[in-house]
Amino acid sequence: MTAQQKLYEGKAKILYTTDDPDILLTYFKDDATAFNAQKRGSIQGKGAVNCAISSHLFRQLEAKGISTHFIDQASANEMRVRMVKILPLEVVVRNIAAGSLCKQTGLALGTPISPPLVEFYYKNDDLGDPLLTRDRLLLMGLATAEQVEQLQSMALRINEILIDFFQHCGITLVDFKLEFGLDAEQKILLADEISPDTCRLWDQGEADVARRVMDKDRFRQDLGEVESAYQRVMQRVLANPVSL
Ligand code: C5P
Repeated sequence: MTAQQKLYEGKAKILYTTDDPDILLTYFKDDATAFNAQKRGSIQGKGAVNCAISSHLFRQLEAKGISTHFIDQASANEMRVRMVKILPLEVVVRNIAAGSLCKQTGLALGTPISPPLVEFYYKNDDLGDPLLTRDRLLLMGLATAEQVEQLQSMALRINEILIDFFQHCGITLVDFKLEFGLDAEQKILLADEISPDTCRLWDQGEADVARRVMDKDRFRQDLGEVESAYQRVMQRVLANPVSL
C-alpha cells in the first residue's frame, strides 16, 4: 500500500486513502474524549484494543448476514474498510436505562427496556448531537423514510446478535451507538466501530455498580482502571469464536 493520504481525522480515529479508491484505512487512536470533547485524555493501548474488538464484532455481524464496511484488520491499530458516505446520524440502541436516557427522563439507572429503544441523534458537534424525532429527521432530509425503516430494523437485528455474543462473554450489553454509510450503489452498510468507546458493557460477574463498568463510562466518570477494563473486554471478545 502506497501514497496514503489523511482523508479525515476524528476524535478517536483517522481515515486514510489507499491505492484503491473504494478502500480506506481506519487508524484507531489512543485519544479519548467525552461530553462533546469537553473532557480529553488518552487511554493507553485503546487504539489496538478497540481495533481488535471492532474487527471481531464486525466479523461476527457479517457471519450473521449484516452488511458492514469491514474488510479486514490490516495491523494492530488499522482496519481496512469499504468507502461509504457516512449518514450524519448516531443510531443508539438501549436495552437498559443509563446515561442520557436517565438524565433526560428520570428513569432509574438499570431499568430494563423492553422492547429495546432505537434513537436517532444528529451527528453535529456545534449543535451538541441533539436527539431527533423521526419527523425532524425526515424534515432535515438526513435520510428517506425507507432508509429510516431499514436503519431501525438493522439496528434491532444487530442488537440481537450483539446481546447474544456478549452474553457468551459474561457481559451485559446495556446500550450502544452505531453509524451507517451508503456505498456507491446506495446500499446501507454498518460503519464506524463497535467498542467499549461506543457501548455500555457491564460485567455479569460484578454486582457493584462501579466495578461492573467495562466501558468508556470509567473514563467519563473517573472510575479508574480504564485500560484494564478495556483489556478484559478484548480478552473475552477474542476468546469467543465467530458463530454462524
Ligand atoms: O450518552 P448516551 O447515554 O446517550 O449514550 C448512549 C450510548 O451511545 C452509549 O453506549 C455511548 O457510549 C454511545 N455514544 C457514543 N458516541 C456518542 C454518544 C453516545 O458512542 N457521541
